[in-house]
Amino acid sequence: MLAQALPQSLARTGGEPLDHVADFPAIPEGWAYLDTAATAQKPQVVIDAITRGYDTSYATVHRGVYQRSADMTLAYEAARRRVAGFIGAGSPDEVVFVRGATEAINLVAQCWAAMQLRAGDRILLSHLEHHSNIVPWQMAAERVGAAIDVAPLTADGRIDLDAVEAMLTERHKLVALAHVSNVLGSVLDARRAADLAHRVGAKLLLDGCQAVPRMPVDVAALDCDFYVFSAHKLYGPTGIGCLWARPELLDAMPPWQGGGAMIDRVSFERTTYAPPPARFEAGTPHIVGALGLAAAIDYVEGIGLERIHAHESALVRATRDALGQINSVRLFGPEDAAGIVSFTIEGVHPHDIGTILDESRVAIRAGHHCAQPLMAALGIDATARASFGVYNGPQDVDALVAGIDRVTRIFG
Ligand code: PMP
Repeated sequence: MLAQALPQSLARTGGEPLDHVADFPAIPEGWAYLDTAATAQKPQVVIDAITRGYDTSYATVHRGVYQRSADMTLAYEAARRRVAGFIGAGSPDEVVFVRGATEAINLVAQCWAAMQLRAGDRILLSHLEHHSNIVPWQMAAERVGAAIDVAPLTADGRIDLDAVEAMLTERHKLVALAHVSNVLGSVLDARRAADLAHRVGAKLLLDGCQAVPRMPVDVAALDCDFYVFSAHKLYGPTGIGCLWARPELLDAMPPWQGGGAMIDRVSFERTTYAPPPARFEAGTPHIVGALGLAAAIDYVEGIGLERIHAHESALVRATRDALGQINSVRLFGPEDAAGIVSFTIEGVHPHDIGTILDESRVAIRAGHHCAQPLMAALGIDATARASFGVYNGPQDVDALVAGIDRVTRIFG
């Protein structure tokens, strides 16, 4: 029934059905993969780029004098340019390759915060942050005697920017917020957050993990100071992600890891460091990972981020409409959530929901989603979470809803 209803709902949101499941060899027929917020499946073009990187063109980067290494260096640096273009960075030198969003935030917390934060300074976070955007700040704050404030959420699960405005003071040096919540799917008005932070002289870091796969992102238009994301949620490989920062911030930051590739000259008397981004990329990088990330960017841009956003919004709407009709279901997050729906069923633990759905070949995530403070704010321990990608369609919403129907029957 829903499969027929959905195209209408897609039309309402300006979306159109995408049918890209055939691009993904790891998604067998009849399997509803609804855990893209944890990690996205990989399209064949990304797998091919990684395979090619290892089987026909593999060599190290930056150091080789032979042609193969020079070619690989060009490809690796082309991937950096690809990322810069994808997020609207002014220059590829503003893009640091890291292991993922977690490492990117830790880099900023260690290098920028260590230099800029003093005892008595404050950092503002929100209740919906992923642990990756909480713990590094706690560690940084502890080191210098700074304090952390936590912005509340609106009733429908957005970061309450009116409250942020009222909370911010000249003592705040940093505001660090999720661009899109990994639990609620709520989209931050990032431009307003940047204006509020800058008004008191604070920097804004945006955790873009859930935003870059779901909507166009332009760091210049957002006017943020730091932007981080992981490739594996963007249909790319694990083990690589990006930190973007304003060039003057990167320039002023000391290195964090020492080793090869990040130096200018080394002697036992004195070592000098390379300029960014090399200063922050000690050691042999994830060379082939960068090629996979570039292929992933080509892939999503080939479809169009606006189309992906409209498509996922329509799936969210259809899911919320259907689950909202079941009395025992409680839905979290706003109506216009980006690609993510969290819910609970009265009297059923989310892990049981996940296990029963798995028997129906529907894969969702159940738990605290690395957001225990959010669970505490919502007064629950866990949620079930369905999250969408370019391979999902109305049939996956149907399978989810049928599975939830089975859960409610099993639990009476
Ligand atoms: N922030 C958000 C909003 C996320 O969804 C995630 C991944 N669940 C992270 C940070 C951490 O990303 P990673 O584990 O790839 O470093």
